[in-house]
Amino acid sequence: MYSDPAILQQLFGFSAFREGQKEAVESLLGGHSTLAIFPTGSGKSLCYQYVATQLPHLTLVVSPLLALMKDQLAFLRSKGIDAASIDSTLTPEQNKHVMNDVRSGRCKILMVSVERFKNERFRQFIESIQVSMLVIDEAHCISEWGHNFRPDYLKLPAYQKELDIPLVLLLTATATKKVKEDMASRFNIAPAHIIQTGFYRPNLNLHVRPVLEANKNQALFEEIHKQQGAGIVYVTLQNSAEDVARRLQQQGFTASAYHAGLDSDVRQKIQQEFMDNKVQVVVATIAFGMGIDKSDIRFVIHYDLPKSIENYSQEIGRGGRDGKVANCTVLANLDGLLTIENFVYGDTPDKSAIERVITDIQSQAPIEVKSSEHNSPQFYEKNNIYQWETQINSLSSASNIRQLPLKTLLVQLELANVIRPLYAYFAEYKFRFITGKEDILRLFSEERSRFLDAVFTHSTMKKVWGVVNFDSIYEQYGAERSRVVAALEYLNEHNHIELASRLITDVYQVNYPQLCAENLADRMAHYFADNEHKEVERIAALVGFFELNSCLSYNLSAYFDDTKAPKECGHCSVCLGKVAKLGYSTPIPLPDTAQVTEAVTALQSHLNGKFEGPLTLSVYCRFLTGMTMPLFTRFKVKQVKGFACCEHCRYADVKAVVSSIID
Ligand SMILES: [Zn+2]
Repeated sequence: MYSDPAILQQLFGFSAFREGQKEAVESLLGGHSTLAIFPTGSGKSLCYQYVATQLPHLTLVVSPLLALMKDQLAFLRSKGIDAASIDSTLTPEQNKHVMNDVRSGRCKILMVSVERFKNERFRQFIESIQVSMLVIDEAHCISEWGHNFRPDYLKLPAYQKELDIPLVLLLTATATKKVKEDMASRFNIAPAHIIQTGFYRPNLNLHVRPVLEANKNQALFEEIHKQQGAGIVYVTLQNSAEDVARRLQQQGFTASAYHAGLDSDVRQKIQQEFMDNKVQVVVATIAFGMGIDKSDIRFVIHYDLPKSIENYSQEIGRGGRDGKVANCTVLANLDGLLTIENFVYGDTPDKSAIERVITDIQSQAPIEVKSSEHNSPQFYEKNNIYQWETQINSLSSASNIRQLPLKTLLVQLELANVIRPLYAYFAEYKFRFITGKEDILRLFSEERSRFLDAVFTHSTMKKVWGVVNFDSIYEQYGAERSRVVAALEYLNEHNHIELASRLITDVYQVNYPQLCAENLADRMAHYFADNEHKEVERIAALVGFFELNSCLSYNLSAYFDDTKAPKECGHCSVCLGKVAKLGYSTPIPLPDTAQVTEAVTALQSHLNGKFEGPLTLSVYCRFLTGMTMPLFTRFKVKQVKGFACCEHCRYADVKAVVSSIID
């Protein structure tokens, strides 16, 4: 008996474990890595929090959202449990403090983002600590089958092995069967240690209301008039959030827009007003609801189609937490679908672009590594490794791959053992004097004063800001970069200078023979093509779901592999006799061949002699459908006649027309 209600009461003030919690705690304290799938708001976090207090060493929690971390830290501290995070908001002093507490064993729970592992200093630190358990929050991010795949999560199983952490807990609210199996297999979790509570929520009424774009606002007003109490309206774009909120206000509702473009204090204020029932309706993009704990949300309306079935389920899951009825309505048509689909295509890099990244990594190899290609394996073992430095911005622009897919590519190269991250640093430091230069120098004894003088003298002053020249300081004075940075930080802290740093530079170790493997670019291109396919399928599944002719509640539960839900809930729109058929408000046009030919020619002549890479099929398609890529920003392609002339067409149709022209 590992789960003790008396301890639960004493530490957390709860009298009993909720459904699933007890099983998860027993499994973990019995020494088994565990996967727990509980709906949002059902106390997932308590599983690790309780277990952490019973384990001998540190519990390391990986969480994707700073806001979620801060909420959990506040909760733990309110219970007197020592927990901390290492994140970007900490000062170097606070950081040191946390590390000391972890080292001494005072701090039992440490929360970090997955990106923290890229930092070599953090890896060294955590390697020197004994860790009892690794907890991965929102663990579905690890699966490429999941809706929120985060490439960096793929490295977590390797970290667990490297750090020799005996126990893993994966937490998620939404996982399909495939995602569940994928997560479990990556951490060798046996089926007996997968704990899943029922997915079906009898108090949520799921409705799909097909409506054409022109009638949407009217339909929205009607829907809200039927409701009592507070609710959320989900939209896709920040603009629509503002627009819909304004229209609701004009209709006499108290409504506020909420999206990531608002200042955090404004968002805070809206959340609070919503909690206090001063605002009835929040019109929100996906950003809303993460940290909110309002149990009496009576309705959730999707003004636009949700991004995926997973998103839909999380968003409606915020309704009716108090167990009373909540109405969840989707105002559905297919108009927004094209944009979602085109975005997917926009994120798939061309093979030629992937090759450019590989060439960039090769170009930094020292001559002796390059010329060693035909040498013996023994030579490789000693000499095949060198460092590659890159800035994501400039690499993105040089390779013409958008930043997010570029990061994915780098992770894939890492998983293929081609590169390995070492550390990151700021390439540029600049400062301006607050205290006069001579006054600063007078504050220090001889050697230090001479050193600082060298730092100042070897900086290039532009008006008020000076840019530090590390190379020149090293050559002339022999001072290492780290000493210079430490001195500048000190002066900044004591308000003698203002210090600014920019151009974050990532440093990787390169395995040259792997990098030169013949099919590397092909393998990477294949990976992206595969992903594109999965995404397009996911969108099709979403539309298919809303057009189902059998119970929506049952199918939603089944999608998440819970087969215990009733076959007919009796209260969704299908059970009530309304099967939805979604349509486009206007038919999708086919691309005009003459117009496309003209646009293609215009783009060719615009880029002629400027862009050094090949103009591939997808460059043309993205140009015609109005999607952006680094190349377009660099060469002001948006001004070229014909940009976005096919934005209302299907990507596949555009592709067919372009292929027939350029071949
Ligand atoms: Zn039903």
